[in-house]
Amino acid sequence: MKDKRAIVVGAGLGGLSAAAYLARAGLEVDVFERNSYPGGYACSFVRGPYEFEASLHELSGIGPPGNRGSCYRVLEGCDVARRVEFLPIDDFYTSIFPDFTVRVPHGWEAAEEAYCDQFPRERKGISRVMQAMRRINDASAEASKITKASDALTLPFKAGDLVRSMGITVAQALDREMKDPGLKALFTNIWGYYGLPPSRLSWLLFAVANASYIEHGPYHVKGTTQALSNAFVESIEDNGGRVHLRDGVVSIEVADGRATGVVTGQGGRHKADFVVCSANPITTCFSLIGPDKVPADYLKALAGRHIAVSTFNVYMGLDHPAADLGLDGHEFFINEGYDYDDQYLRMFTTDRPSYWAVTNYNHADPEFSPPGTSVVVLTALVDYTPWAHLPADRYRETKDRIAREMIEATDRRFPGLKDHLAVVEVSTPITNMRYSGNPGGSILGFDYDLAGSPPFRLSNRGPLERLFFANAWVRMGGGMETCITSGLFAYGEVMKDLRGTRGLAKLLPATG
Ligand SMILES: Cc1cc2nc3c(=O)[nH]c(=O)nc-3n(C[C@H](O)[C@H](O)[C@H](O)COP(=O)(O)OP(=O)(O)OC[C@H]3O[C@@H](n4cnc5c(N)ncnc54)[C@H](O)[C@@H]3O)c2cc1C
Repeated sequence: MKDKRAIVVGAGLGGLSAAAYLARAGLEVDVFERNSYPGGYACSFVRGPYEFEASLHELSGIGPPGNRGSCYRVLEGCDVARRVEFLPIDDFYTSIFPDFTVRVPHGWEAAEEAYCDQFPRERKGISRVMQAMRRINDASAEASKITKASDALTLPFKAGDLVRSMGITVAQALDREMKDPGLKALFTNIWGYYGLPPSRLSWLLFAVANASYIEHGPYHVKGTTQALSNAFVESIEDNGGRVHLRDGVVSIEVADGRATGVVTGQGGRHKADFVVCSANPITTCFSLIGPDKVPADYLKALAGRHIAVSTFNVYMGLDHPAADLGLDGHEFFINEGYDYDDQYLRMFTTDRPSYWAVTNYNHADPEFSPPGTSVVVLTALVDYTPWAHLPADRYRETKDRIAREMIEATDRRFPGLKDHLAVVEVSTPITNMRYSGNPGGSILGFDYDLAGSPPFRLSNRGPLERLFFANAWVRMGGGMETCITSGLFAYGEVMKDLRGTRGLAKLLPATG
């Protein structure tokens, strides 16, 4: 198939995954990336003796041998899994609330016990919710194999939980089964990973995404996610593809409603049979293609969706082991209250956040930083809007103030932290936007509200013939597992056009 050429715009995880699959299938593949490194958010950076993971807290869908998750299988399918070392994280998360602290392990029974130990009177409701999550997850896996319309028609009868989950929020699902606001807060404390509070977050998304963590455990990547992104590049190149760095795409060429190639910043004009965008659909349609060439209903669909939140990160290199400061796990969530709607509204201000994650990277990988040191990162969700309106001369002062206040507040929970700061680097939504090109510095594409849960997200098929998307903005949505899967989906769409192949199962090799 070397007579067919695919061009991938951007080397985010979605684009890299699509490129690796396309190269393996024998297409001629060229990836054009504006940055000097591959991976988009999946990267690292170095300050002094410390290499920082830029984004990943916990990778889902990996699992140990014998219990591999779907992300691992997708990585095997494009010959990336064997090139990466995945390190298991022993717990799911530790929640710190004003009145209690609970460590939630992974594994269905273990996680359920942790919730029940803290709220023994709610055992029945907790159990019913966990069972519903399992049924939704199992049914969703079955539904993804459907290729015949007749099977889709019988789905509501065979998978009632799954169908119901598409129309309700997390809060609606839990209100039926749980009473104590503290339990609801504990159970949903990971909502930050999905960008919306339970009152607005899709129950389907929450159930399936959490199931992936609970069933297979969370993972860290040895050498940071830069190693994962580099492994994709290796696979692409081993299969004859090329990854061009520092050469962004400035326009996508169109003829008769069909994408026909790209023009890059270094002046290259490249013809293509297929164009796959890791770049987000808003920039792609409005800047790379031009709105006059995009069907109006697609532009309307873009305008009807809300861009998800971004992040504020404080990256800290400590001259001391984090475990000695009480950070005896990987992921901690600090909550100054139980009202998640209030926490969410605060994300639209430049006040210090009241909910943030504290991640100790040396827990899963003791060699993460030089001996006797450690790397700890504070991450809060924040929206881009207040940062966009901040006068330029107040940007640095605001970012330094929030970082200082977050360090102080974290030090109250883990005393001694602020006495061991060797290196501190801070990122804001503006940083995210600069490095990813994503509007608002969004880390998840569009919101995961009811209209943005995976079945209702935009398709991997773009608004023009032979144009596809593989990123957080379309199916399966934001997050690393989902973006890697999005690459497989985009590849599946190309294969439909090229060979008439239907059904992703046929595109994945059998796994052991
Ligand atoms: C701080 C932080 C923490 C996170 N934590 C987690 C976590 O714990 N678990 C998890 O699963 N996910 C996490 N995520 C989310 C996850 O990283 C993203 O959802 C995912 O990596 C997005 O991948 P993508 O394919 O959409 O590409 P992106 O990462 O958005 O990359 C897009 C790429 O396209 C390039 N590009 C854009 N325009 C052009 C152009 N015109 N020409 C060429 N190239 C272009 C950009 O330079 C970039 O490299 C986190 C993200 C952040 C920022």
